[in-house]
Amino acid sequence: MTATATRVLVLNSGSSSLKYQLLDMHDAARLAVGLVERIGEETSRLVHTPLATGGAKRETEGAMADHDAALKAVAAELAADGLGLDSPELAAIGHRVVHGGLRFTEPTVIDDAVLTEIERLVPVAPLHNPANITGIRTARALRPDLPQVAVFDTAFHTTMPEYAARYALDVATADAHRIRRYGFHGTSHAYVSRKTAALLGKDPSEVNVIVLHLGNGASASAVAGGRCVDTSMGLTPLEGLVMGTRSGDIDPAVTFHLKRVAGMSEDEVDELLNKKSGLIGLCGDNDMREIRRRIDEGDDRAKLAFDIYIHRLKKYLGAYTAVLGRVDAVAFTAGVGENAAPVREAAIAGLADMGMAVDADRNAVRSDEPRLISPEDSRVAVAVVPTDEELEIAQQTYALVSA
Ligand code: AMP
Repeated sequence: MTATATRVLVLNSGSSSLKYQLLDMHDAARLAVGLVERIGEETSRLVHTPLATGGAKRETEGAMADHDAALKAVAAELAADGLGLDSPELAAIGHRVVHGGLRFTEPTVIDDAVLTEIERLVPVAPLHNPANITGIRTARALRPDLPQVAVFDTAFHTTMPEYAARYALDVATADAHRIRRYGFHGTSHAYVSRKTAALLGKDPSEVNVIVLHLGNGASASAVAGGRCVDTSMGLTPLEGLVMGTRSGDIDPAVTFHLKRVAGMSEDEVDELLNKKSGLIGLCGDNDMREIRRRIDEGDDRAKLAFDIYIHRLKKYLGAYTAVLGRVDAVAFTAGVGENAAPVREAAIAGLADMGMAVDADRNAVRSDEPRLISPEDSRVAVAVVPTDEELEIAQQTYALVSA
């Protein structure tokens, strides 16, 4: 890395997608952002926004057979803006990796041994890690000389005490198959809990925060003095809150019932719980805007879905208040948490005895900045804190390679 190398390319590889952002860590400015969709199909699409040049968004359609073709297309777009991957200003590539198991508690420079270890975790993250691995292999082939860093969604949660992380399962079976609660969305929970402390003018070590990451996927975490002590997702991102398409917490016997009584296959149960449940299963919509619109029109199914979603949130707020003992702040983040004022209002309603309240006027303000939505005299600060997982990945990557 040269002294002038301050740029980090952040890659988030999905099974048929590649999201990227190029940031300059000198001032955390975003130079370019983009997304390739439908990789492997005839109709792959690249959408590239060159923020550094202020140029217009560019869209390219056409078959991109694999992630290699997609990343080469991204590299060409960046090069056209004078931001090519061969630039000496590029310090590193930071990869989002969903599952780091217990082995990866920190961002890690990727070498062959690390890649083998991430591959060993595929059985516990079959939907996510293979795509992340493909992204890493592709980027390493393109720039073998450049440091590549894996930033793990699970890392922030590795501080959970054993009694929070372990299921009450037979220990030998659980250990043989690495079955435990890992938690996900860790970069978001880390970033938002730190930002919330800053909003309160405190050091993260001084505050206890409940973070509610409410996007299409959703998770809650209890963060004590900057360390995660509990989180709602488990072995996989299926556990916990009601999500856009995932059920969240459910009696595991429901799965036996679906197989034995409803005659469903393993794959069908998996698909039902991960893709056809949650809000979409309850009311046919997973977008909170649409659900609110339907409620305003008097739609009972949408109202019930909303009420179930809120009820689960309240249960986690109560549980994590008990886990933390003292709560200084509740932070709402991600697509729903940042934008849906009615969700924030309903989740906090009735929790005055827990010291939590929302001020209607403050809650109605729309802004991209972290902000308080609780009344001035609230015992617990309730906040909206926009998340920025790419910035967190870039910062962790840069901190590691510039150390
Ligand atoms: P994320 O996964 O963080 O990108 O969040 C996506 C979800 O945020 C969508 O499925 C919507 O349910 C929700 N969302 C985004 N914008 C709004 C909005 N203005 N009001 C309510 N919900 C929103």
